[in-house]
Amino acid sequence: MVDRIKLLLYPFVITDTMKASSIKIDKINCKGCGICIDVCPKKVIANSEEINEYGLFYPYIINLDNCIVCRLCELYCPDFAIDVEEKK
Ligand code: SF4
Ligand code: SF4
Repeated sequence: MVDRIKLLLYPFVITDTMKASSIKIDKINCKGCGICIDVCPKKVIANSEEINEYGLFYPYIINLDNCIVCRLCELYCPDFAIDVEEKK
């Protein structure tokens, strides 16, 4: 039952037991809007000082261990440029 409720509320149920094995950012498709940085509740993502081939500052991961796999960054990214992989 609890699992079913979690599924219904997903991704807004945040537990501290979930961890990410990787977070990939598609540097080519990222437009450097910074939304993923703003919505991350755990300050996992930060602005990079490097630019992609379009001259845009893409973000990078500064603290993978802090990620709780809430997937807010994935949901809010307008360009589907971020992919969070849950650690099993
Ligand atoms: S899934 Fe994304 S928004 Fe959520 S904690 Fe991890 S990096 Fe931050
Ligand atoms: S929300 Fe998406 S497009 Fe915007 S900076 Fe993050 S990865 Fe790039």
